[in-house]
Amino acid sequence: MKRLEPVIFETSVPGRTGYSLPALDVPHVPAESLLPKEMLRKTAASLPEASEVDVVRHFTRLSQLNFALDEGFYPLGSCTMKYNPKMNEDAARFPGFAQAHPLQGEEVSQGALQLMYELAEMLAEITGMAGVSLQPAAGAHGELAGIMIIRAYHHSRGDSKRTKMLVPDTAHGTNPASSALAGYQVVEVKSDARGNVDLEALKEAMTDEVAGIMLTNPNTLGLFEENIAEMAEIVHSRGGLLYYDGANFNAILGKVRPGDMGFDVIHLNLHKSFSTPHGGGGPGSGPVGVAKDLLPFLPVPVISKRNDRYVFDCDRPLSIGKIRSFYGNFAVLVRAYAYILSMGADGLREAAHNAVLNANYLASRLKGSFLLPYDRTCKHEFVLSGKKQHDEKGVSTLDMAKALMDHGFHPPTIYFPLVVEEAMMIEPTETEGKETLDAFAEAMLAIAKEAEENPDSVKTAPHSTIVARLDETAAARKPVLRWRPAE
Ligand SMILES: *Cc1c(COP(=O)(O)O)cnc(C)c1O
Repeated sequence: MKRLEPVIFETSVPGRTGYSLPALDVPHVPAESLLPKEMLRKTAASLPEASEVDVVRHFTRLSQLNFALDEGFYPLGSCTMKYNPKMNEDAARFPGFAQAHPLQGEEVSQGALQLMYELAEMLAEITGMAGVSLQPAAGAHGELAGIMIIRAYHHSRGDSKRTKMLVPDTAHGTNPASSALAGYQVVEVKSDARGNVDLEALKEAMTDEVAGIMLTNPNTLGLFEENIAEMAEIVHSRGGLLYYDGANFNAILGKVRPGDMGFDVIHLNLHKSFSTPHGGGGPGSGPVGVAKDLLPFLPVPVISKRNDRYVFDCDRPLSIGKIRSFYGNFAVLVRAYAYILSMGADGLREAAHNAVLNANYLASRLKGSFLLPYDRTCKHEFVLSGKKQHDEKGVSTLDMAKALMDHGFHPPTIYFPLVVEEAMMIEPTETEGKETLDAFAEAMLAIAKEAEENPDSVKTAPHSTIVARLDETAAARKPVLRWRPAE
């Protein structure tokens, strides 16, 4: 089992060092003469004194306390925790990329500009959009940029009565948040019994005060919106625009394009679908793409090509402006570029196929022991419900998620989407082999059996981790990031 203690501060031995350097024998300016007197320390900093091997072990141990994708299966629904090929990491670390300075002029940044220009072109082709900006730093940031583009479009036509944005009841929380942040009143649209947006509800909600609708397809139930063409027709016919949340793009890569489904504005989560390690907060990248009529509103600068040179085009009077310092999270862009080129069109399509196959395989193995409220062929993920275990044995989805950790798996996304009680949203991704899927299915089935026979052991799980049940809100909002000596 992994160990937490001791920390290096507690094993410190006065006088022990982890390095040896020859005595300083060159002229130097003492710190006392460089810094104002009042800024000088009165007492030495209390730093741990340790040998090199103790320091290495301390940090290596710390690095192993977390769960990582490189360590095991991570079926966190909606987050697409697929394996990120190490080759893309190498590419992002090429000195020419990693050491490029964002204030370098265009003339000495042609390689980086070419990469961004070509990546934007490839993403436009993959999504069926007319143009793409790589600036937004994450999916939610792309959403905000996209909704600002929708607003700018309506306003440019003198249409300022549209104050509402439609969001389905299955939507990710960032959708209503982005709409609200961009100044829209959020109107929820119900789903029907098959897990699609309810067309009647949509028709009713779609008035001339509505700027558009935010959708992800497949939706957060992992189900393809079967009526997307009709939905697009309803929204467009009343002057609204369709926004595509690309977080579920892994399911449809190379199969169907949001542009062809009728979407006007999209974002992608490069860190999800296009292979950048994520979780724990970034960095990410959420490029935003638009249909032809919306091109003038893209954030500036747009990277353009003039006479075989790549340039930053800032002369775009209708642009929503700049939304991120410099040009986005460049290293994530390098990874996405390397990923797309190494996969090729067929490889991307195969990734989508296998993501969907893996999800359907797992769903079919688990649906006998857990409720599957929307029992349809799913796309890249599916949502189980722990309601049976909850109602019959008092074992909640949270308990079962905790128990998975004892089996060596990262828990799935839980209690989302909100339309499913005791939800467990499972996304296996295409990078997992059948053996891993089977091991996960066996663990889930063992937990279901344990919930039947010995509910208390599930309710007190996990039993093998360093910490058991944290106050998850406090852990996220008030994390303890510093060691302090006992008083
Ligand atoms: C992850 C996700 C987002 C937000 O993306 P971030 O990059 O985390 O900001 C939006 N919608 C859905 C459906 C997601 O899964």
